[in-house]
Amino acid sequence: MQTIPFLNLPEQHRLIKNEILASWSGLLDTAGFIGGAQVELFEEEFAKACQVAHCVSVSNGTDALRLIFQALGVKNGDEIITVPNSFIATTEAISQAGGKIAFVDIDRQTYNIDCKKIEDAISPQTVGIVPIHLYGQTADMDAINDIARRHKLWVVEDSCQAHLAEYKGRRTGSLGHAAAFSFYPGKNLGACGEAGAVTTDDHKLAEKIRILRNHGQSQKYFHEYEGYNNRCDALQAAALRIKLPYLKAWNETRRQKAALYTELLKDTNLTLPFTAQEHLHVFHLFVILAENRDSLAKHLTEHGISTGFHYPLPLHLQKAYSHLGLGKAQFPVTEDVSVQLLSLPMYPELTDENIHYICTVLKGLL
Ligand SMILES: *Cc1c(COP(=O)(O)O)cnc(C)c1O
Repeated sequence: MQTIPFLNLPEQHRLIKNEILASWSGLLDTAGFIGGAQVELFEEEFAKACQVAHCVSVSNGTDALRLIFQALGVKNGDEIITVPNSFIATTEAISQAGGKIAFVDIDRQTYNIDCKKIEDAISPQTVGIVPIHLYGQTADMDAINDIARRHKLWVVEDSCQAHLAEYKGRRTGSLGHAAAFSFYPGKNLGACGEAGAVTTDDHKLAEKIRILRNHGQSQKYFHEYEGYNNRCDALQAAALRIKLPYLKAWNETRRQKAALYTELLKDTNLTLPFTAQEHLHVFHLFVILAENRDSLAKHLTEHGISTGFHYPLPLHLQKAYSHLGLGKAQFPVTEDVSVQLLSLPMYPELTDENIHYICTVLKGLL
């Protein structure tokens, strides 16, 4: 029996540990933990990687989203459209900025926002759309940007699962008015702790977020308004700078792993990930659908294989959102998919032998 974890960050770190330690050693010598060259260089390098003019590093992905909404001027009662099949961070950020959550169901093939249903959710209070590039594949950005233009809405990408994914040859982070990234350790680009970033081509928006993340300061001890302590620290920026040059190759390896899974599972009754045309998927997660999902997960666990559900309870059915009064059957695709989805191990360090073993164990119960 093999033991296969859901993620294997220690293995990733084994290869780059010396580079990270050398960089951290310099920071310890100078005690330059807040701001400084590592933070500024990371912002330059990440902006370039995302093909945008500005990157503002922040404390985490959730704060990145909230800071964007605040900088865009979201006020009480403004409605923001997103999907119920996501991690709660997206909707937390909407509420914390004073916005009102407006859900739209997902597409059955891509699990991203169903663009055909967006216009039905637009009201006179709607100010923006937040497509989430779930599992590593971008939403249909041309359709979304077209709707946004016609209704004078902004578009903020939740790119927390899609670092360097592409849509028609363009990278995430550059496909809307602004984008939020998370560098939570398990993301495709992960810090050694908490970190996040905002990317945008809008100079004014970038400047506003730079000030907001640092107590509303335009210069030290001079405050334009009250802000937040939402900076990314130098140790995280230094680690991210070391990982960033590997990211493209890591994503390519994820695609190869996904192709092997697909080849080995193609003659089964499982629903495999669908890659839309002209999209470059970065497989943050490899999610399949199975009718006997729960027994499959149990069977895999018994054979040493860790799996996950992303996500087992849609946001509109969470206790945290009972006040929205959204009952069952409102977003049928999300609800349908939530009881069938199963995330298999997916990371560059996973070996082909691991995947052969996982697929053999899986097929044993089909
Ligand atoms: C990880 C994640 C976030 C939040 O990022 P944190 O850095 O953990 O705050 C937001 N949205 C999505 C879709 C995520 O996967």
